[in-house]
Amino acid sequence: MPGTGQPLRGDRIHRSVTAFCPRCHETNPPLAQARRLSGVLLIRDDRVWLERGCPDHGLVRTLYDESPEILRYLEQWQAPTKQPASCCRTSSSTAICAAPVPGPTC
Ligand SMILES: [Zn+2]
Repeated sequence: MPGTGQPLRGDRIHRSVTAFCPRCHETNPPLAQARRLSGVLLIRDDRVWLERGCPDHGLVRTLYDESPEILRYLEQWQAPTKQPASCCRTSSSTAICAAPVPGPTC
């Protein structure tokens, strides 16, 4: 077996997230006091995993979503209302894109 030190096959980073450590939360019930850790959403074996590194518990991995397709579908509809691009102006409740070609966040 060639040991070239490549990343694990099938792992793909979807995006960075901020997440709580579930083990910290267990021992320290109020969620507001649990640490916020920087983590990543990772796609492996056609499932979405949330991984974050806790100073106390090390690498903590939990299943975030059963299907990357569902996640992508949901985020597709979340993106435009969350962060309007600079080319978009907001008119009452609807955002109108002024760019000739709408950007990825339009
Ligand atoms: Zn922890």
